[in-house]
Amino acid sequence: MGKEIQPIFILPEGTQRTTGRNAQRNNIMAAKLVAETVRTTLGPKGMDKMIVDSMGDITITNDGVTILEEMHVEHPAAKMIVEVAKTQEEEVGDGTTTAVVIAGELLRRAEELLDQNVHPTVIAKGYRLAEQKAQEVLNSIAENVSEKDESLLRKIAGTALTGKAAESAKEILSEIAVKAVKRVIEYDNGHVHFDKEHIKLEKRTGDSVEHTELIEGIVLEKEAVHPGMPKMIKAPKIALIDSAIEIKDTEIDAKIEITDPMQMQAFLNQEEKMLKDMVEQIALSGANVLFCQKGIDDLAQHFLSKKNIYAARRVKKSDMEALSRATGARIVTSLRDLNSKDLGSAGMVEERKIGSEEMTFVTGCKNPKSVTILVRGGTDHVVDEAKRALTDAIGDVAASLKLGKVVAGAGAPEMEVAKELRKYSESLSGREQLAVMAFAQAMEIIPRTLAENAGMDPIDMLVELKVAHDKKQKWAGVDVFKGKVVDSWNAGVIEPLKIKTQALSSASEVAQMILRIDDVIAGSNKGGAAPQMPPGMGGHGMEY
Ligand code: ADP
Ligand code: MG
Repeated sequence: MGKEIQPIFILPEGTQRTTGRNAQRNNIMAAKLVAETVRTTLGPKGMDKMIVDSMGDITITNDGVTILEEMHVEHPAAKMIVEVAKTQEEEVGDGTTTAVVIAGELLRRAEELLDQNVHPTVIAKGYRLAEQKAQEVLNSIAENVSEKDESLLRKIAGTALTGKAAESAKEILSEIAVKAVKRVIEYDNGHVHFDKEHIKLEKRTGDSVEHTELIEGIVLEKEAVHPGMPKMIKAPKIALIDSAIEIKDTEIDAKIEITDPMQMQAFLNQEEKMLKDMVEQIALSGANVLFCQKGIDDLAQHFLSKKNIYAARRVKKSDMEALSRATGARIVTSLRDLNSKDLGSAGMVEERKIGSEEMTFVTGCKNPKSVTILVRGGTDHVVDEAKRALTDAIGDVAASLKLGKVVAGAGAPEMEVAKELRKYSESLSGREQLAVMAFAQAMEIIPRTLAENAGMDPIDMLVELKVAHDKKQKWAGVDVFKGKVVDSWNAGVIEPLKIKTQALSSASEVAQMILRIDDVIAGSNKGGAAPQMPPGMGGHGMEY
């Protein structure tokens, strides 16, 4: 019996570890799977996904970030790709599929280089150089846009809506998106401010998407608290109160010992008087509309109605803030402090029935920095997808105005970048050159996928596109409807420059990060599910 060699454990029991080439291969495979999942949704001819959650709720969408969020991806490298989509969503609001597809393709191309024994840090460095160059190219081909270019702005919105469920109402929705952004965007010497919170999207099922409207003002999912209140008030004086119009001091209630009916009556009279006084305070300020963030006592409702004051209760805090912005009213906590200076004004406050429910409209506001889009659609799924498409359109119009730069889409900018990168790679030596070439090839995944999803032959299309770009047709892109090369600028496929620059920088960043990982150590989470480690992932019927 030989001497037994005692193994040394530096990691706790149950820890799973993969290292070197295996770790890289697993991570790349996971990232590619994520990209492959959303790839079929890219472009106007992309398909939708139906995602059913554990509760049986269904989401039907072709919005990249929505799909990835609903999928609850668990593999760590795959999660990093999902983060790319989320960043894209936050920074631009559109282009999430593009970003993820490019990231996946950068990794696929990197894998080929790894197989040829190119070191991952060399690939990462080449990718960094390529990305910088690509950003320069994108900036140099971009065109200017400003608020005056109404038709161009509508094309930007229209491009975001193309191929979505809401496309039937493209004209109307584009107009609404552009109007809404113009309403709330602010310029202050050279700086452009846009806060997407200022555009409120309210959903209402019933009626078709074409009936979506832009309300210059605020729409609340609230009705008047009392049927006796006026249904419409012109030139209203609006009070915003964030405390309850109730007597809720239960300590006092508890102390009162009622021994005879007279006392009871006195107590009730007392309470009634207090509520009456509260309503009196509101009326004295000159207000004839009251939005209360908290509750309003039944009796107070009655008094308010007698004074012909329109009142809604339990208004959301975000709506109170929007109302304050739009009407100039100050949100007041103590009724005693309320005076005429705190009141806001508008053209009209009105209760209207939309679908099956009453809503409160506050329109004709003096300072309509807040607008509401009332999104309509036949079913919940349609309304939800229309809302997502509109959010993309709004994000794109805003992103275009913020930078003042746009590009044409349909794969044209990616082809142009690929062409310039190939030229640039010639100035580099050896392995870095290979990495830049790989980056260039990876860019072509966008036009290739657009063609594939439209049922076209992607190889033929790429060849034709290359020829066109070599002839200096910088906007040569994929006509997914006619199956040929088209000048995508003339075809009106316009997108903000920011979609492309952001997608490229996040995709390249995550690819480099994943490439640098050569060791994955996953702790055993005690009692929980097994750590999601490769090769436990996969198995979704996708082969590589
Ligand atoms: P993403 O989540 O990346 O925005 P989309 O499904 O919206 O994904 O597809 C965006 C891609 O579709 C972009 O490359 C864009 O240029 C392209 N695209 C949009 N409209 C058209 C069109 N009419 N013809 C060809 N390509 C288009
Ligand atoms: Mg899009």
